[in-house]
Amino acid sequence: MEGAALPEEKFADPDWTAKGEPRASVPLTGLETLWLNTGTLCNLACANCYIESSPTNDALIYLSHAHAATYLDEVADKNLGTREIAFTGGEPFMNPDFVPMLSDVLERGFEALVLSNAMKPMRRYEAALLELRERFGNKLTLRISLDHHSKAVHEAERGPRSWDVAMDGLRWLSTHGFSLAVAGRLLPGESEAEERAGYARLFAAEQIAVDAHDPLRLVLFPEMDEDKDIAEITTACWQILDQDPAQIMCASSRMVVHRKGEETPRVAACTLIPYDEQFDMGATLAEASQPVKLNHPHCARFCVLGGASCTA
Ligand code: SF4
Ligand code: SF4
Repeated sequence: MEGAALPEEKFADPDWTAKGEPRASVPLTGLETLWLNTGTLCNLACANCYIESSPTNDALIYLSHAHAATYLDEVADKNLGTREIAFTGGEPFMNPDFVPMLSDVLERGFEALVLSNAMKPMRRYEAALLELRERFGNKLTLRISLDHHSKAVHEAERGPRSWDVAMDGLRWLSTHGFSLAVAGRLLPGESEAEERAGYARLFAAEQIAVDAHDPLRLVLFPEMDEDKDIAEITTACWQILDQDPAQIMCASSRMVVHRKGEETPRVAACTLIPYDEQFDMGATLAEASQPVKLNHPHCARFCVLGGASCTA
């Protein structure tokens, strides 16, 4: 299935694979989760950050509260039945509108999922977070990135001195009873069972209340390398792989992004492909409801063959 470099002829045509077979697509079954990308600026510059976040990359600018509200209004006006609003960045707590946006989401009755590295930007908002937890309890979940259960591997990815600060943030959230999840990486050469056992030991030692054996509480993502060869997904693959397209992330979610240089935000097919025009679905959620053609290596490696899901 996987080889060396990705041949140029693959993922070249939205409708047909290199072998001339019809490319698979995923219809939207319902907008269960709407992701809001708060902007790519981050306090870290992780080696494998899929969205290339850093303290200087603002390719996706800060989403404003006013722009976010137009999408929340559309969800309500069109009765889209959305259960969850999820925030990702960059580091969401760096966006000055983030806490008002998060409050708005919870006050409108949605569940909220916040992806964060639990470092200094988050710690500036401890009082606001405690108030939201008090008001909304488990409707607010924070999912903290901890790349590995060992300090050495985590810091190789995230930089020196990133471990202790993240662990401290995680402990703070756990001690204060937040609904908590952790996102890690599945490393080549280490089995999922080994990874989960490693995290379980860490959480027990650090008194972090996350069940490492619950796939919704410890989410492990496969490595994503778009330059390596991978099979293209055809319409026949669903049956061959015994996969249901309704289980793929873009069947039930979309992500709002505000690209630098554009007047207003746009809706991308998913969290994984924010820059590719082929996965720009339109300006509104209504426009973005058409099926997604799986014309990207991530679709194959990460979603159909890797089985990843971003929902908490
Ligand atoms: S903390 Fe997350 S968003 Fe920031 S650079 Fe690292 S992987 Fe990217
Ligand atoms: S990478 Fe995005 S567009 Fe492709 S299958 Fe996964 S969720 Fe859908």
